[in-house]
Amino acid sequence: MKYISTRGNAPELGFENVLLEGLAKDGGLYIPEIWPSVDYKNLPKGPYFEQAAFIIHPFVDDFVSKEELLSLTERAYSQFPLDDAAPLKEIQKDNYLLELYHGPTLAFKDFAMLLLAEFFNFSLKKRNKKITILGATSGDTGSAAIEAFKDSEHANVFILFPEGRVSDIQRKQMTTVSSQSVYPIEVNGNFDDCQNLVKNLFQDLEFKNQYSLAAINSINWARVAAQIVYYFTSFQKIDAEKVSFSVPTGNFGDIFAGWVAKKMGLPIDRLIVATNSNDILHRAISTGDYFQEKVQATISPSMDIQISSNFERLLFESLGRNSKETASLIEKLKNEKGFTINQSSLEFIRNDFDSGNANEDQIRNTIRLIYNDTGIIIDPHTAVGFFASKDKLNKSFPMINLGTADPAKFPNAVKDSISIEPNIPNKLDKILNKDEKFDKLEDDPDALKSYIMSKVK
Ligand SMILES: *Cc1c(COP(=O)(O)O)cnc(C)c1O
Repeated sequence: MKYISTRGNAPELGFENVLLEGLAKDGGLYIPEIWPSVDYKNLPKGPYFEQAAFIIHPFVDDFVSKEELLSLTERAYSQFPLDDAAPLKEIQKDNYLLELYHGPTLAFKDFAMLLLAEFFNFSLKKRNKKITILGATSGDTGSAAIEAFKDSEHANVFILFPEGRVSDIQRKQMTTVSSQSVYPIEVNGNFDDCQNLVKNLFQDLEFKNQYSLAAINSINWARVAAQIVYYFTSFQKIDAEKVSFSVPTGNFGDIFAGWVAKKMGLPIDRLIVATNSNDILHRAISTGDYFQEKVQATISPSMDIQISSNFERLLFESLGRNSKETASLIEKLKNEKGFTINQSSLEFIRNDFDSGNANEDQIRNTIRLIYNDTGIIIDPHTAVGFFASKDKLNKSFPMINLGTADPAKFPNAVKDSISIEPNIPNKLDKILNKDEKFDKLEDDPDALKSYIMSKVK
């Protein structure tokens, strides 16, 4: 499989180089040259790691053999429940909760990050190389990355998180891991500032090469590929002609994986982009205007984003894979804070996607309603998805709502909604009283460069 850049000005690469490079040299995102199709009826019945290898293999064919891929997926998913890594519960008639939070850090990002770490370690061992992982997090990416790479002999890990914008538990998951190669950094800024710092360092090619910078953000194609799997496995569990998915969305990585599943042949009816008050994607899909506003802090902090990086991939597809037009829209985003999506692109997008948004009260109400109706406690991100899908429940096709985090990660939001604290799983209980270790930096690329230089010898 060859990969091309959405901006058309970077070399075509195979999977392994796409994995290691993350962002393309022209600032674009890599995307497969063609969408492979698979027959979902041939999907193995389980275990999950075999299903994962089946779905992911077409994307990595030149990198690992089928047997090697199986051993990587087996290791990646060994920390999930063995009987079912991604349980699906019908909580109301034809309305499902897909529980993606049974991994080590209790959010769906573990699915992609643990496999990404296996891929990296496999490649770096072969090349006898060491890299510097640099990533930004709105909460869950950071802990998933730190957990996945903490024992790697091939990587130092630097994770930027916005001051005061991640929950206490999310921060502790990053700052209580004892590892010589892990550096959580609190940045005086918001998530988009953190993400821009990362982009800035990656664009300094000399620095990038000298420190072998590698990206683990959701723009990394390997992460998107890993997320395709549970769309297939959840569909397999339901006896339906088609299903729809509602996906709590920030950076557009998870839901884009759903779109890829559809391209690969999975019978998906609608994909619902569910946003919180940071609703740039909802506005874009409902009006065609993709304009940035100020980031608002919400009770679903992992979605507090105004620049949705992976949306560039869909934009590229909606423009008939015209990289010049894609690049010029992204240029407008930089210079004019946004752009208007043309009519034919918008129709392309609306052909597969719906959107919705939930404000803070609507999120809390949804947690309460679902709890009162079913006795099930959902987290505030998952609630955004349930809120957005409730008007789109369709009698002919079931709805699968992606449960993206364990409610125990956001106890305050849950308590404010239903006056009950969610149970704290053992995995979390252990870290709550541990000492935290992290450094603080200003929103300044030079300060970040010096910091990394001082740590990587
Ligand atoms: C990251 C995250 C999201 C958003 O996923 P994207 O792929 O960035 O759209 C939603 N919910 C939770 C809990 C997350 O951690």
